[in-house]
Amino acid sequence: MQRGTNHRGNFTRSERNAGQQSPVRSATRHDGAEFLIAPFLERPRIAYFSMEIALAAEIPTYSGGLGILAGDTLRSAADLRIPLVGVTLVSSRGYFRQEIDGAGRQIEHPAPWDPAQHAEPIEAKSVVKVNGRDVRVAGWLYIVKSATGGTVPVILLDTDVPENDERDRDITHHLYGGDTAYRLKQEIVLGVGGLRMLQALGFHIRSYHMNEGHSALLAVELLRCSHRFDRRHSDTPGYNVPGVRALCRFTTHTPVEAGHDRFDWGLVQELLDGYVALDVLKELAGPDRLCMTRLALNLSDYVNGVAQKHAETSRKMFPGCEVHAVTNGVHPRTWAAPGFAALYDKHMPGWWLEPQLLARADQIADEELWAAHEAAKARLIERVKTRCGVALDSQWPIIGFARRMTAYKRPELLFSNIEWVRAIARSHPFQLVLAGKAHPRDDSGKYAIEDIHRHIRTLDGMVRAAFVPDYDMTVALDLVAGSDVWLNTPLRPLEASGTSGMKASLNGVPQLSVPDGWWIEGCIEGVTGWSIGGDGETENGGDASSLCHKLEDVVLPLWHGERTQWIRVMKGAIAKNAAYFNSHRMLRSYAIEAYLR
Ligand SMILES: *Cc1c(COP(=O)(O)O)cnc(C)c1O
Repeated sequence: MQRGTNHRGNFTRSERNAGQQSPVRSATRHDGAEFLIAPFLERPRIAYFSMEIALAAEIPTYSGGLGILAGDTLRSAADLRIPLVGVTLVSSRGYFRQEIDGAGRQIEHPAPWDPAQHAEPIEAKSVVKVNGRDVRVAGWLYIVKSATGGTVPVILLDTDVPENDERDRDITHHLYGGDTAYRLKQEIVLGVGGLRMLQALGFHIRSYHMNEGHSALLAVELLRCSHRFDRRHSDTPGYNVPGVRALCRFTTHTPVEAGHDRFDWGLVQELLDGYVALDVLKELAGPDRLCMTRLALNLSDYVNGVAQKHAETSRKMFPGCEVHAVTNGVHPRTWAAPGFAALYDKHMPGWWLEPQLLARADQIADEELWAAHEAAKARLIERVKTRCGVALDSQWPIIGFARRMTAYKRPELLFSNIEWVRAIARSHPFQLVLAGKAHPRDDSGKYAIEDIHRHIRTLDGMVRAAFVPDYDMTVALDLVAGSDVWLNTPLRPLEASGTSGMKASLNGVPQLSVPDGWWIEGCIEGVTGWSIGGDGETENGGDASSLCHKLEDVVLPLWHGERTQWIRVMKGAIAKNAAYFNSHRMLRSYAIEAYLR
């Protein structure tokens, strides 16, 4: 970036900022976001909209896999210099910080963060009408930086400004907080406010990528604009639907029904009254309720699912829609533990830009690979000691399991037959580390956390086990790198992709998983990891016993046996899976197949 070439302009901007301090704008010195944005306006960009983006470990603007994926996408774009601009909500009170009480219950605390510490305030504001009131949408500029020198701007939308009505200032506070009306307000700010902010800043957008349906109102805003600009090529009188479709791309992320936002038309009318003709909206988003997924599907000319199987499932859910598949990936540098990154730097220089090079992992000496693993494992053991007070033993294998705690992920599957688990541990000792947050309103997810704690107490003495509270990016890296086996037990076909197993692969940790999501593509039995159960879709009990059998007969005996045989599987995970299931490969697919249309 051409920093310093315009130092005087920069100084003037700082002075002006200093003159308009407010409680929200409490930062002391800024380059001025508009000055920093200027270089990003020089060429057309892809606008990447996402309700959550995991920008950095210390910024709690994400809840799980969707946000991690968005962050990894932008980190890859910076590495590869693919011109994107990210748009999301500032979520200034975060998602939540998880505490576990003595009874194993989840307690939620706010997780506030100060955008001024990480981002520059943007002077431009956009205005959206919500509930008949003007809501001013301010913003912050965060810049994702790569070691290549590549950068990607991210706009964090913020309604907490003094000009706004008290009732509107909290719209961008809580990620996935509040009720349905709160969610719709957030989605108006994200879609409509975000699009207007890009316009106000002077971005030249060549296409819009909606990462999940939350941002679909951006397409409605484009539609509203088309009403003024172009009535020529329209199949809906007055609106240029084909023109909007030509600009939009949509990635759907879940085959779980509850994962698709739906809003009553009454609520939509109350909040968005007169915004776009209601009959037109109903035609695009469904007669009964406004379905954000349907809206996005109908207003995009490229739609994809996040794994082959998920695309197939989505085609069944949305008959008549062409749904492509771009299988997810994880960001190479972000998800390789320091020891593994150093190993790859040594043996496969350039791997972090061309992760295909990891296909040569079989050339790494066994001792070197094992030493990197032991270092990562020591780090995990240390964290478990400080966070949970549980002493794990580096001599024994660790089975890791961490993800959002929600019913379809079946976090309790391993404990279905506790006597069997005990028997396995007697013949082949192993240890367990688990982590994960349940959404504050997901009672079954919260119950699962309590239940896991009960099981941990039951197993005491036989299997050392710990639940690490407050699962986040930092805990995730320690877990995926420091475990010996990564466990994944979703109810088929509800895991759209899953990405934590990809992170494990990048650190030579083989996965043991139900064949769902990316694992259908990634599993080569005994070579990259192992699968659990058959191809059936709902055989809960079958999966539980299959899991115990695999652990008892295959996975643990292999770990306790010849080390070289185990290391061969570790290398298989890196060479065959990490080399492919990374976000560079994923973003290059999006660039060619979705963005360049
Ligand atoms: C990777 C990651 C996830 C997603 O993991 P899945 O296996 O896809 O469920 C969720 N939360 C955090 C903090 C992560 O790092």
